[in-house]
Amino acid sequence: MATKIETLVVGGGQAGVAMSEHLGKLGISHVVLERARIAERWRSERWDSLVANGPAWHDRFPNMEFKSDPDAFVPKEEVADYFVDYAKMLNAPIHEGVEVTSVTKKDGAPGFIVETSDGTYEANSVVAATGPFQVPVYPKIVPEDAPVTQLHSSAYRNPGQLPEGAVLVVGAGSSGVQIAEELLDSGREVYLSVGPHDRPPRSYRGRDFVWWLGVLGLWDAAAMEPGKEHVTISVSGAHGGKTIDFRELAAKGMKLVGMTGAYEDGKLSFAADLADNIRAGDADYFSILDAADAYIERNGLDLPEEPGARELLPDPACMTNPLREVDLAEAGITTVLWATGFKQDYPWLKVDAFDEAGRPVQQRGVSPEQGVYFVGLPWLSRRGSTFIWGVWHDAKYIADHIATQHKYAEYRGPEDTAAPAAAAE
Ligand SMILES: Cc1cc2nc3c(=O)[nH]c(=O)nc-3n(C[C@H](O)[C@H](O)[C@H](O)COP(=O)(O)OP(=O)(O)OC[C@H]3O[C@@H](n4cnc5c(N)ncnc54)[C@H](O)[C@@H]3O)c2cc1C
Repeated sequence: MATKIETLVVGGGQAGVAMSEHLGKLGISHVVLERARIAERWRSERWDSLVANGPAWHDRFPNMEFKSDPDAFVPKEEVADYFVDYAKMLNAPIHEGVEVTSVTKKDGAPGFIVETSDGTYEANSVVAATGPFQVPVYPKIVPEDAPVTQLHSSAYRNPGQLPEGAVLVVGAGSSGVQIAEELLDSGREVYLSVGPHDRPPRSYRGRDFVWWLGVLGLWDAAAMEPGKEHVTISVSGAHGGKTIDFRELAAKGMKLVGMTGAYEDGKLSFAADLADNIRAGDADYFSILDAADAYIERNGLDLPEEPGARELLPDPACMTNPLREVDLAEAGITTVLWATGFKQDYPWLKVDAFDEAGRPVQQRGVSPEQGVYFVGLPWLSRRGSTFIWGVWHDAKYIADHIATQHKYAEYRGPEDTAAPAAAAE
């Protein structure tokens, strides 16, 4: 016997919890199925010392505050605890330890058959809330049998986990740069391969960058700037929050190199783009300072001047005389740590909602397969869509859409004799 439900949400991370809040408010019967625990990725798929990238006052849902200081960067376990507490506050119908294995469209009737590790459901709509960062990806540059340990940032926990020796971290987004610095601080020799990146100031003139992005309307940008599709963002809440500064990391002894190229005979080559990448990151940094200054002036705000923010350390030797190749054995590099991002994968969602490359097709989360929704994806509606505060607003829009469709499905005209078609709880 299938359990009938109006809406079934797959995944109990922040996106699934937000969906439950909004569906509940609209009186839509629903269930959230989570294969592991609420906010599992924050617990077991991140490194031990990770703290939130944004301060507690900002990186949260509107209806509950973190227990800590609002300006603190909350440790990852507390982020997970927050969502557990939030779900409790909502009395959210989240079933942990239940994996969704297949969703198929019903034949000749509205809705879907959902197979799970705990039985079958029939649902009129299904929301995929399985995360923006699901499957670790890294380029197959170094052969698997090369004499070096390779791991993805999602498998990194702490420096003690890695074999003795130097480490090459590939990727200088928020994960790579934080992990590289932690390894350096633990006494390791560290190489960091730096590609194109933005590096906003952590704070400027007394305001955190999340505030600046908010008032400048940058969180609401609807799409990535053309040409910036492969530009990562380097930002960190570690050490109480400080601006990522590659010159400073080089001065601390980190060996910076350009984009990682090819591997041959135990040697890795690097592109000659390190200085360009760092300068482009500087330009992004200064553009935020300029926009912030203009905003302060236009609005007559009384915020302290911060001329020191415009001073850069001199270009380090790794920029002026870049290292183009390294012999891993000679350099004592025993680990290559790939901080190269993630992709999405929906093998269980067997519906017509994907392009040829397997990417979800959607507009603000609404897919062309009626009744199938996506939430939590990068740029779903705006820059903020994958962030804790942003997903809450996207979930609200999707819940509204579901409620509207529910109303259409329930409608019966004066000529109709059939009972309402929508599934009951
Ligand atoms: C290193 C890192 C740091 C980040 N730091 C911040 C930050 O500081 N602030 C911020 O706002 N954002 C941050 N983010 C971005 C974002 O907030 C997180 O990625 C967040 O976990 C996304 O939440 P989600 O609910 O969309 O997806 P997830 O947290 O990935 O949740 C999806 C859930 O779906 C479950 N699931 C998957 N498949 C199935 C299935 N078939 N059946 C049932 N359940 C399934 C998974 O177990 C998982 O629990 C960070 C991301 C990373 C990678």
